[in-house]
Amino acid sequence: MNLLFIGPPGAGKGTQAARVGERLGIPHISTGEMFRHHVAGGTDLGQRVKAIMQKGGYVPDDITVAMLAERLAEPDAAPGFILDGFPRTRPQVEALDRLLAADGLDRVVLFEVEEDALVNRMMSRGRADDTEETIRNRFKIYLEQTAPLVEEYGDRGLLVTVDGIGGVLEVTDRVLKAVGS
Ligand code: ADP
Repeated sequence: MNLLFIGPPGAGKGTQAARVGERLGIPHISTGEMFRHHVAGGTDLGQRVKAIMQKGGYVPDDITVAMLAERLAEPDAAPGFILDGFPRTRPQVEALDRLLAADGLDRVVLFEVEEDALVNRMMSRGRADDTEETIRNRFKIYLEQTAPLVEEYGDRGLLVTVDGIGGVLEVTDRVLKAVGS
């Protein structure tokens, strides 16, 4: 099963992708997490993206797409995967379409959480890019660049919406139900 989790920053996609991935036996692929690993490891890629991430901007599409393409080619992703945080822009949607070809996405899960709850969650998790200013910038960019993609996947008939407010276990049940598992 090829799944995509989409929603505003702090909506709980990462937490749920890890849990649902384990349940379904497919890897959780988070571009944000991959970038954080590169930054922590001080790789060339990490050095290129560090400042962008600290400001809450999007990493350029060519860098992001190349990294994701390599990850999808790994054998553990052959039976399926959960994408978390990719695609975030139209060019990334087109790149993903090309990468998956006939073997497209089965479902796109939209996490709905209202803004106040999101800010509270993010301020309490203590990640390096979770300062108030960065959070505000990430929201703005999400609304401008990523929210329109939700409509695109809706038009394709792939979209299911999950209420992201509630306990972790409760939300996992909702997601599993939404993807038909
Ligand atoms: P969140 O969902 O809280 O925004 P992520 O871990 O998904 O956190 O992403 C953290 C940061 O990594 C983003 O703010 C951005 O700088 C970078 N990033 C992650 N995925 C992408 C992507 N698909 N395109 C561009 N930048 C990305």
